[in-house]
Amino acid sequence: MFIGHYGLGYVVKKKTPELPLWLLFVSVQLLDLVAFTFVLLGIEKASYNPSNNPFFRNHLDLPYSHSLLGAILISLVVFILFWIKDKKRWAWILGLCVISHWFIDLIVHTADLPILFGTCNVGFGLWSFPYLTYAVEILFVLIGWLLIKQRNIFSYLLLFFMIASFTGMVFSEEPEIMKQNDYLRTSVVLISNGLFILLAYLSDRKRKYFKNSNSHVNLINTGK
Ligand SMILES: [Zn+2]
Repeated sequence: MFIGHYGLGYVVKKKTPELPLWLLFVSVQLLDLVAFTFVLLGIEKASYNPSNNPFFRNHLDLPYSHSLLGAILISLVVFILFWIKDKKRWAWILGLCVISHWFIDLIVHTADLPILFGTCNVGFGLWSFPYLTYAVEILFVLIGWLLIKQRNIFSYLLLFFMIASFTGMVFSEEPEIMKQNDYLRTSVVLISNGLFILLAYLSDRKRKYFKNSNSHVNLINTGK
């Protein structure tokens, strides 16, 4: 799954407003962020594969970041990091967000998700139905976005960029230069995910800013 994971980030934000949205976005997408980094480092592989189905245009070999065992280890690292920082509630929530990625990917991927490193590949294959997959991902993000009722320029930009980049990915062909260069393709996806996370950070801050400025106005009025 591509942008759909962020839908879950929004839902968790609704339930636990004290958690920063950007941190939830990093957590639900952490396995992909690790995968992109591993591809750039040459540890894992994601290369262009010609196909009429846009979801089959990636030949993926992600034995570490996207194996169930790898996902458990990565979520454990996040859990321990926040636990020792004495943020025990955050540790549980963020750890579960990280592992959720693998189970959501399990629904859409064809049998290329390993259980152990590189072995016992699984996947239920929703990607075989590209229009249904597209609709499900857009729906996840839209429901999440509508739920948290966060309305400012950054939250609108975030929604716009997520839907626009995903729609572009599904309905248009990649430029030749990207097809031939795994590093460029991966960098573009990594940068667009970075942009989503930055906008999530800004949209949360902006919300606080409005709250603060309102209370400031109240304070001035009371002072009179
Ligand atoms: Zn993934």
